[in-house]
Amino acid sequence: MDIEGFRKAGYQAVDRICDYYYSLEKRPVLPPVQPGFLSKSIPDQAPEEGEEWVRIEDDYQNVIMPGITHWQHPNFYAYFPCNASFEGALADLHCAAISNPGFNWSCSPSVTELEILMMDWIAKMLGFNDDFLSTSSSGKGGGIILGSASEVTLTVAIAARERAISDLSRHFPPPNDDMRANGHSQGGEEERSPDQANARLADWRGKLTSKLVMYGTTQTHSVGAKAALILGLNFRALEVKAEDAYALRGETLKRAIEEDKAEGRLPFLLVASLGTTSSGAVDNLTEIAQVASLHPELWLHVDSAYAGVALSLPEEREASHLDAINGSFDSFSTNLHKWGLVQFDCSPLLVRDRGNLSRALTVTPEFLRTKEGDSGSVLDLRNLQIPLGRRFRSLKVWFVLRSYGLQGFRDHLRRTMSLSRVFESCLIQEPDFEIVAPPRWAMVVFRLNPASNGSGGGDVNGRSKTNEGLEKLNRELWEELEKRKSELLLTQTVLPEVGFCIRFVVGSPQTRENHVRQAWNVVYECGRKVLEGNGLSLKP
Ligand SMILES: *Cc1c(COP(=O)(O)O)cnc(C)c1O
Repeated sequence: MDIEGFRKAGYQAVDRICDYYYSLEKRPVLPPVQPGFLSKSIPDQAPEEGEEWVRIEDDYQNVIMPGITHWQHPNFYAYFPCNASFEGALADLHCAAISNPGFNWSCSPSVTELEILMMDWIAKMLGFNDDFLSTSSSGKGGGIILGSASEVTLTVAIAARERAISDLSRHFPPPNDDMRANGHSQGGEEERSPDQANARLADWRGKLTSKLVMYGTTQTHSVGAKAALILGLNFRALEVKAEDAYALRGETLKRAIEEDKAEGRLPFLLVASLGTTSSGAVDNLTEIAQVASLHPELWLHVDSAYAGVALSLPEEREASHLDAINGSFDSFSTNLHKWGLVQFDCSPLLVRDRGNLSRALTVTPEFLRTKEGDSGSVLDLRNLQIPLGRRFRSLKVWFVLRSYGLQGFRDHLRRTMSLSRVFESCLIQEPDFEIVAPPRWAMVVFRLNPASNGSGGGDVNGRSKTNEGLEKLNRELWEELEKRKSELLLTQTVLPEVGFCIRFVVGSPQTRENHVRQAWNVVYECGRKVLEGNGLSLKP
């Protein structure tokens, strides 16, 4: 394709994208395709000769689109949203045009500098204090935009592990120091071979890391356990209770730390949640901070992949323990690519001390050295992350935040939260349905519970315990909802002390009140069908 060919194809692609958005509502949310469907339409190897662009573009529309789940559909209420904005789309297009890996400042000075500035915009938007800014008085604050909460958690775990090992090495010095301390001469006969030295170092590290324990709760996203798995570290899921709305309490943390320390283990990282995936639970970050003040070696991280953007709303800050985060937490992350209007992928990680990342992750071979890097006058973002190359993600943040303004950003959150209230009030008015955890942000978790009749249906305190009958009814409800996946999409989960239940999350800028009411009608119809099928009828 030449430049003029791109001009023509590009205009056409934008036209089709606009048509797509006009047609979204009429499309099935989940496509009716079977596994393996695509191999019928796509040859099993690349064409020997290049093809005409028009055929390729048509095939995208005719072959690929029928197998797309429409996350931007107004009736998409599953998982968490994965917002798209036109501003973000344009940023991605510009990034594609200048494709570059931005690992060092000099790779593209604007890429590094815009990211540093956007991290400060994000920190200020969310109410973080000076400590987390690149301009912090300590000179250590700031952060980086990574691709996912998974990558963030792994990166934080590496930094926390290295900090812990460095602390531990004061009491358990590494073998080389040992040798010097014992008076072994350098280069003398007694010097061990590099292999032996490496083996001794690995042994020393292995002994220390085997003592480390990473904490989350039974409700922490699997990113916590996965980071531990990748790093070969222990992960301990602390218990949380329905009566605490699945929040980690200070007392539970205190007991766990005491137990582990008594056994000779070192809790080195807590992945706390501000908005869990199953129920939107908020760990008691204030109590956690109090307990952790006696254990400064414990790195405190907040995973707020979904809900973190809501810290931009001043009225949400107190319930989200922002003061505790500002006062005591080491790191915080949210996914702007969920509810924050920025296209996938965009996971800003804010840290109080960038040095913990760069000390753990800096490796500089000759070919990566630059004059600016050597002089220390620039930040080379490769040193704060796992990969070398990186996407220019800050451009979409800049486009979105400028075009929406903070007001427009907050309006989007408040509007979708009020749509969630609409669904919630439908649930509350229907006594045979029950809300099973306190609704938070734009999320409601519910189930059928005909037994809850009389307690007001949606009354969290009137909840009855898990039983087989309810489990069966709700799995049947889920089967009915699965049949309606072209009309609306939800996801199921299992909560301790409750069992099988259904999540409703609204976050698409396309969703209007009529969509939510229509979604409720489908849920109600499915519920009625299940109750009637079981000889129970919905109360009038
Ligand atoms: C979505 C989510 C994750 C995982 O996000 P990725 O960016 O896909 O890795 C982790 N934690 C929470 C609380 C989430 O909601």
